[in-house]
Amino acid sequence: MFVTMASGGEPSAPAGAMLVRDGRIAAVGPAGAVRAAASPGARVVRLDGATVVPGLIDAHCHVADVGYLAAGADCSQPSAPDIPAVQARLREAAGRTPRGSWVTGSGYVEYKLREGRHPTRSDLDQAVPDRPAVLYHTSLHACVLNTAALAEAGLADRQPDPPDGAFGRDSDGLLDGVVYEGPMFELFVRNLRADLARMDAAARARLVQTASGRLAAFGLTAACDADMRQDSLPAFAEADADGLLSMRIYGLVVHDQVDWLLASGLRGRRSDRLAAEAVKIWADGGMSSRTAAIYGSYPVPPYGSGILYFGRDELTEMVRDFDARGFQVAIHAQGDRGIETALDAYAATLTRGAAGAARAARAAGAAGAGGAGNPLRHRIEHGGALYPPLAARAAALGIVVVSQPGFLSTLGDGFAEAFGDRSEQLYSFGSWQRAGTTVAGSSDAPVITADPRLGIRDAILRRTGSGRVLGSAERLTSRDALALYTRRAAFAARREDEIGSLEPGKLADFAVLDANPLDAEPEQIPGIGVLATVVGGIPVHDSGGVFPGG
Ligand SMILES: [Zn+2]
Repeated sequence: MFVTMASGGEPSAPAGAMLVRDGRIAAVGPAGAVRAAASPGARVVRLDGATVVPGLIDAHCHVADVGYLAAGADCSQPSAPDIPAVQARLREAAGRTPRGSWVTGSGYVEYKLREGRHPTRSDLDQAVPDRPAVLYHTSLHACVLNTAALAEAGLADRQPDPPDGAFGRDSDGLLDGVVYEGPMFELFVRNLRADLARMDAAARARLVQTASGRLAAFGLTAACDADMRQDSLPAFAEADADGLLSMRIYGLVVHDQVDWLLASGLRGRRSDRLAAEAVKIWADGGMSSRTAAIYGSYPVPPYGSGILYFGRDELTEMVRDFDARGFQVAIHAQGDRGIETALDAYAATLTRGAAGAARAARAAGAAGAGGAGNPLRHRIEHGGALYPPLAARAAALGIVVVSQPGFLSTLGDGFAEAFGDRSEQLYSFGSWQRAGTTVAGSSDAPVITADPRLGIRDAILRRTGSGRVLGSAERLTSRDALALYTRRAAFAARREDEIGSLEPGKLADFAVLDANPLDAEPEQIPGIGVLATVVGGIPVHDSGGVFPGG
């Protein structure tokens, strides 16, 4: 059984076979017709009742970070339910971390730990007393440092808060080791860069392979890397040149690295597997770290109204500049204040002058066609608090919204705590879609697991970890939920002509599942087995023995 996700709907006669030739789909349809189109001696693979779906696409993921953090301590749930477990995992990671590198852990959420608080520097000191250690919050918008790491980062006890972030403090006002936003990003990038620089080509290739191997096991065949930098893009390019890149990567290059990108010669489509044609900008902070820029203030720590990285004029200048240079722009915007600033910048760019105004009017009329007035397909990443009036504006501008349904079950209870009544309107996929916006699905891994089955279930059910439904009117049908991770994600990555559905002429990217997600009970979707994953006709994952002999 083949679920084609073709834009015109499924074929009237269910597709029971597919012909792959030279890495592309040559035919898909009734078995007899497909067999007739095949050359004599074509290899036949029997799928025995399995379901084939288009290769799943994660439209916003931190692929290099997945590979990088996979080498450190896994402090996520359920591996590390409390602070002693976090300590044990860090202690164990210290044993295998090379001297010179910081001992690294990741994946904790303070309100999910049994203690219900962030670990502190002294918790970390007990586990790793003699060398720097860092524990990254799952949002990657906060982290905890031990005393040695605070010293190496040059952070002193009476350190004032920087304008783009904050430090956690104990009752005496001394640093407790928790670092939010700006200084946390600096540390993460510095550590990632130092560790990548310390790696030889083989180790960098291993990092890329680890990451893509993990994603392939989930049925993913393509991902947008939402944090591509001068340290990571060359690693992908090396792996690609050596034939080791087993998935398609679309790089969103961090805005302050664009000059480097232009000088590097890596801009654009490098191969079938690697492209870097978009720019990433952060407008505000994160949802689970309660630093997204909102109107009003958070009733939970660290309180405040979140962090806005750029004023409206500054952001508009940046967007105009990248737009003029032909880059697709992807702005991280989570809180309503952050989203409004991003939409203002897009509106000023896309409706500039008479031509722009006409373009915008056309787009408003043709909303849903997917951004006729937004030819480069500028995007909003996340869009957590994209409330109805903002959603209407985004739709009129033809902005593509790339969001994360899987946050609902993993982080949703924390959102409810931080947003109260308005939490029903967070991540309102149903409303966005009804407003005519193209919504693409993604994980934001390693913030949460990269497993798209979780996101598909959550887009349908919208249930938090405690079982509460957040915004029942915002549920999607199973077909729309699957479209988030196939057709619509392909559109967000500007490759819908080649991936995202099973149609003749497209690349032969697909996943073989042991059940049809469109027929399954939504609760059962995360349990559907990924038997095999195929990129360009080549199996890159085969736990089901679907392709004996490769
Ligand atoms: Zn992200």
